[in-house]
Amino acid sequence: MSEGKDLIRCDACPVLCRIRDGRAGACDRYANEAGTLVRLDPLLVAQRTLDQDGAMVPFLQSTDDWDGSLVAGAESFITGVGATTTYPDYKPAPFIVASKANGVDMITVVSEGIFSYCGLKVKIDTDRFLGDEQMAVRCEGEQVGHVSTAEYGSQMLALGGVRHLTGGSKKEGTVTCQAMLDLCQGKAVELTVDEGAGVFVQAGQAPIV
Ligand code: SF4
Repeated sequence: MSEGKDLIRCDACPVLCRIRDGRAGACDRYANEAGTLVRLDPLLVAQRTLDQDGAMVPFLQSTDDWDGSLVAGAESFITGVGATTTYPDYKPAPFIVASKANGVDMITVVSEGIFSYCGLKVKIDTDRFLGDEQMAVRCEGEQVGHVSTAEYGSQMLALGGVRHLTGGSKKEGTVTCQAMLDLCQGKAVELTVDEGAGVFVQAGQAPIV
């Protein structure tokens, strides 16, 4: 939507950024290119990686002989990465995929969870005290989350979320993002809890408190 000279308003999410020519909106997903709102991040990340012979994680390899599943292994699989707007969605997904399966028309509507809203719930099994509920959890001195309610005898950390990813300083956002990426990739991450303990956390490994 045009907002006067050099300015357009992105209406892809409730933030409604007013974006100058040549600049991107707050989420870096949309930009103003000579008065036109354009999408910045590729919608077909997996396909581009495939086209460039990039590394891919094998997926549904054993389904080639499967005869009746909703998702056939040999066909493209719609993931929803880069597909729509924001959370919570207040308008329909802008990308809707049509295909035919055994003569039947199929419509796939996919949703996207953008990274600025992502968070992790980390379950830590230890008898050692990590920190009181609500206390800040830090990585490299930046707050990346807080101690959440204990569950099933385990201490829980809530990491990430929009306030740490985009609501604080740039460093806070970068450190939060990196800590979550590292944890999701099975790497060890050192965390500290205010007025509590320091802990090395790694998926599948015992915590080192
Ligand atoms: S989608 Fe991104 S650029 Fe568009 S209004 Fe929301 S935060 Fe701003």
